[in-house]
Amino acid sequence: MGPPGAGKGTQAQLMEESFRLQPVSPGDLLRREVHQGTSLGRQAQEFMDAGQLVPDSIILRLVAAELDRLEPSRGFLFDGFPRSSSQAAQLDKLLSERSRGIACVILLELEDAAILGRLSLRRVCPACARSYHLEQNPPRVEGQCDDDGTSLIQRSDDREEVIGKRLEVYHQSTAPVVEHYRQQGLVRAIDASQAIETVREQVAEILGACLF
Ligand code: AMP
Repeated sequence: MGPPGAGKGTQAQLMEESFRLQPVSPGDLLRREVHQGTSLGRQAQEFMDAGQLVPDSIILRLVAAELDRLEPSRGFLFDGFPRSSSQAAQLDKLLSERSRGIACVILLELEDAAILGRLSLRRVCPACARSYHLEQNPPRVEGQCDDDGTSLIQRSDDREEVIGKRLEVYHQSTAPVVEHYRQQGLVRAIDASQAIETVREQVAEILGACLF
């Protein structure tokens, strides 16, 4: 968990490689639907472009389908989910129906002041969802994804006028969920202003301790 731009997607992809965990990212799933022009994508896009949460009915349908599609014997790494108390309750239900539970909640902490600079310089690959930062984590070839050569784009919700709304939603709806997990003793916090590699080492150490 963590505010927009804290590095959740970047670290989730790195942990997929190190721990064979399967990332479940509603944001990526939604962007794929938008890209494919499905009716679900069309419904979601107006919320995304406004920096608002997409309705639970859509999110839960996507997440449940993804849990059923993925390999049940490997772990899941939720990225950007749950984002509200009602989603947290629904996640508990989805997991208990599958005899699974939450091993730990990693919180990537980042001050609001650092977020704007990160998001305005973020570019993403529309094909594989890998994200880059033009200064701190640039692609090897300008404008192209290292993994598949696809032209990088700026997310429509990384515009300055939407970022403020996303931060407001984070503080109002998502921060209480972090508190809920903190009371259960599940939260491990990391300073996300550090270099990607430093954060990666710390996330890996936490995961190593709580998974094995
Ligand atoms: P992300 O890629 O995680 O930053 O998500 C991008 C956008 O997708 C968010 O600003 C929301 O509009 C939508 N979204 C992603 N995850 C969720 C979620 N768990 N609940 C509701 N909306 C979501």
